[in-house]
Amino acid sequence: MTAIYLSIVIPVYNEEKSLKPLMDRLYPVVSGLGRTFEIIFTNDGSKDRSLDILKLYVQQYPGVRVLEFNGNFGQHMAILAAFERSSGEIVITLDADLQNPPEEIPRMIEEIEKGHDVVGTIRENRQDSLFRRVASKIVNITTNKMTGMQMSDYGCMLRAYHRNVINNINQCGESTTFIPALAQTFSSSPTEIMVGHAERTLGESKYSFYSLIRLNFDLMTGFSVVPLQLFALLGIITSFLSVGFALFLFIRRFMIGAEVEGVFTLFAILFFFIGIVIFGIGFVGEYVGRIYQEVRKRPRYVVRKTYGFEE
Ligand code: UDP
Ligand code: MG
Repeated sequence: MTAIYLSIVIPVYNEEKSLKPLMDRLYPVVSGLGRTFEIIFTNDGSKDRSLDILKLYVQQYPGVRVLEFNGNFGQHMAILAAFERSSGEIVITLDADLQNPPEEIPRMIEEIEKGHDVVGTIRENRQDSLFRRVASKIVNITTNKMTGMQMSDYGCMLRAYHRNVINNINQCGESTTFIPALAQTFSSSPTEIMVGHAERTLGESKYSFYSLIRLNFDLMTGFSVVPLQLFALLGIITSFLSVGFALFLFIRRFMIGAEVEGVFTLFAILFFFIGIVIFGIGFVGEYVGRIYQEVRKRPRYVVRKTYGFEE
């Protein structure tokens, strides 16, 4: 058996409309490289015909492999499962919805061959809603500040990794994660290139507002304890200020005498601080919940069946 040079990894969740146009563009690019390759699709519990289509591709296209999940475990778990079964020297992740152009793959391979171990991409003219673009900006800036990493576009999943980085990722058993950030922690010479970005024209985004928030908690709390430290700091500052305020009221009591006005102002201030406290407890809860998930040691995902790996 010849060693595989390139592994393409694609998570699929209800993408029956995108799969054919994807294969029509991806396969010529990959097979035109003249290197050995495999394309691994993870079917992340799709409820449409995606799995049937993928099984057909295993027959039709040499090098196509499919992992079938037992349910929906999320995009990042789908990618991790494929990483564990991949064997390429270079591994490239790609979304199934053609928002990332497969034509950029040769350029990414070039960067790895130059000696970089992670090639990230920055979406030029990103074609998503204004809300998502603004939210991503905020996430990118705060994540860089909090983790000390340097990445311009955390969300773009068109990425290339050297085998060394993949081996490290495969040794991590964490049950919630964010792959671009995880890879960055193992990378010694990352680089980024600009790539085009297309609007999603087939099917719809699989991320609801809520799951986007969940995902960003994975990113923030999964890679940094700065949120906790900021909270401790905020607590200390508030206590100091409140001592000052109490002193001020104490002196005022002697100068003006007893006052009862301002009860509602007091309420407003109180609600504000209670809000902060609940927020803080929630934050701590995020970390505790993650620790709980880790200690339970349940499988992160369940693969029901694989296709095309036997050959
Ligand atoms: N995806 C997945 N499992 C999920 C959600 C998404 O495998 O639970 C896949 C999806 O099929 C697509 C990729 O992850 O290939 C990115 O999803 P999507 O395009 O919906 O995300 P967006 O581009 O809106 O961030
Ligand atoms: Mg998309």
